[in-house]
Amino acid sequence: MGERLKFAFYWAATCGGCDVAILDLAERILEVIEIAEIVFWPIAMDFKYKDLEAIGEGGIDVAFYDGSVRNSEHEHLAKVLRERSKVLIAFGTCACYGGIPGLANISDRDEIFKVVYRETPSTVNPQLTAPTTCIKIDDVTLTLPEFHDFVKPLNRVVDVDYYIPGCPPPIELIWEAIERIRINKLPPKGSVIGPRYSLCEVCKRKRDERIKIKHVRRVYEGRPDPELCFLDQGYICLGPATRAGCAGGEGGRCLNVNMPCRGCTGPPGGIKDQGARMISALASVMDLEIPPEKLKEMFKDPLGTFYRFTLPSSILSRRVIKK
Ligand code: SF4
Ligand code: SF4
Repeated sequence: MGERLKFAFYWAATCGGCDVAILDLAERILEVIEIAEIVFWPIAMDFKYKDLEAIGEGGIDVAFYDGSVRNSEHEHLAKVLRERSKVLIAFGTCACYGGIPGLANISDRDEIFKVVYRETPSTVNPQLTAPTTCIKIDDVTLTLPEFHDFVKPLNRVVDVDYYIPGCPPPIELIWEAIERIRINKLPPKGSVIGPRYSLCEVCKRKRDERIKIKHVRRVYEGRPDPELCFLDQGYICLGPATRAGCAGGEGGRCLNVNMPCRGCTGPPGGIKDQGARMISALASVMDLEIPPEKLKEMFKDPLGTFYRFTLPSSILSRRVIKK
C-alpha cells in the first residue's frame, strides 16, 4: 500500500447527520481507512483544535466540512481547514447552501436571543441572562464563540473546491467522491459531486401533463397514490427544482417511501435559486382560475416550503432588518 492520504472532518452548525452518513458507509469505511488516515474528526475521535493547528499549510489532502457557518468558531475553523487542506469539500446541504439552520436568516441575533432566552413558554430567566463572548469569574476568564447575525454557507467564508449536497449526503454520492479521490479523478474545481439533472428525470411515478392543481394538500391530509406524481395529486414535491442522486438512479429516497421531495440536495446544475425555480415550475401546473388570495392561503409556509434548505445561498439570502 502506498502512502495514505490525510483526511479531516469537521462539523459546524449541523445536526450531526452528515457525520453519521459517513458511518453509514458501514464496512466500506474500512476501504476509506485503507486509502486515508483521518487526522482530525472531533465528533468521532479525541482530537483537539491544537492538533489541527499543529498541521502545516497543505498538510491535509481532503477536508470535509459539514454544517453552516453560524458563529465565530465555525468561521475560524473554516479558515484553518482551508489553509491546511489541498482540497476543501462542502459536505452536506448546510455547508453547501446554508441548510435548515439558514431558515433563521429571517431573524438576526437580537431577535433570536430575545425569543430563546426571554420569551419561550419554558424559559425561566428573571435576570435576563443571555450568552456573552467573555465573562470573568474570579480569576478565570471564560469565552464563548460569537453568535453571528446570519447563517452563511461555507463558500461565503472561504474558497470551496467541491460540493456534496444532501441532508445528509447520500451514501452513493459520498462513495462517488471517495472513489474519485482514490483514483485522482476529481471533476473541475467548483463542481457538485452528483448528477446535474433534476429528480423528476429519474422519478418513476406517472405524470399527466394535462392535470392542473386545484388544491394544495399537506402530507397529513391524505394518503398519496404511490404510482402517481405527487404534484398531480396536489402534494408539493420539489422534484422539478432538486438535484437527483439521493437514491442513485432509483427515484428518490423520500419518493420511494411515498413522501414528496422537500428539496434537500439543493438545485440542479445551472439553477441559482431553488425556491424561485420551484415557484416557476408550480406556475405552469397550477389552475389559473385560483384567485391570488386563495393561492396565498394554500401555501401555509412558503419560506419553509421553497427555501427549507437553501435560503442563505438564494437570491433572497436573508431578511433585511432595519434598526
Ligand atoms: S414532481 Fe415529484 S413525484 Fe412528480 S415527477 Fe417530479 S419527482 Fe416525481
Ligand atoms: S427525495 Fe428529495 S428530500 Fe428526499 S432525500 Fe431525495 S432530495 Fe432529499
